[in-house]
Amino acid sequence: MKPNPTKAVVFDLGKVLLDFDYGLLARRVAPRCRLTAEEFRREVDQSPLLHRYETGLIDDQGFLDAVIGRSGFEGDRDELGRLFGDIFTPIPEMVDLHGRLVALGIPTYVFSNTNAFAIRHIRESYPFYSGFTGEILSFEVRSMKPDAGIYVALENLSGLRGPDLLYIDDRPENVEAGTARGWQAWLHSDPSVTVPRVLDLFR
Ligand SMILES: [Mg+2]
Repeated sequence: MKPNPTKAVVFDLGKVLLDFDYGLLARRVAPRCRLTAEEFRREVDQSPLLHRYETGLIDDQGFLDAVIGRSGFEGDRDELGRLFGDIFTPIPEMVDLHGRLVALGIPTYVFSNTNAFAIRHIRESYPFYSGFTGEILSFEVRSMKPDAGIYVALENLSGLRGPDLLYIDDRPENVEAGTARGWQAWLHSDPSVTVPRVLDLFR
């Protein structure tokens, strides 16, 4: 067997460790908006507005202003911020995998296109998050996967390069950008495939 070069495991969050659904948010707020739930979801989910926010080009208040302006949301703005973060459901097999790596003493990193409302909620709600060695968040480094800047930020934080890093993400373009830097980058879709594949490396 070839020696395993992995010195750290880099995790995407969304659809890897946590499932998310902007439909949940949309259904909660739509009764207080001039948009239907589906229209509201389209305003945020993978929208140019969310992309600007998650790149750190607008701040929390600027983002809420824009959402309220577009949707006519009539409720409390702090509540809207909280609801924005509360769209996640943990994926137990993957959270368990993370815990096993931590127990083995393997450094782990969060590597996520995300925003402050989401991270605040995740930190408060999911104890596994405190087990990470470090985190690189798009809105803090002002770069979103698959742009090179955020990958450089992870390399600098970890002090690791190329095949030292095992990276797991559900989006092909993000995985390709990792592969292009020489990382071991794996496309994730099914925990029943990813979990044994990762654990095999550390047997
Ligand atoms: Mg993802």
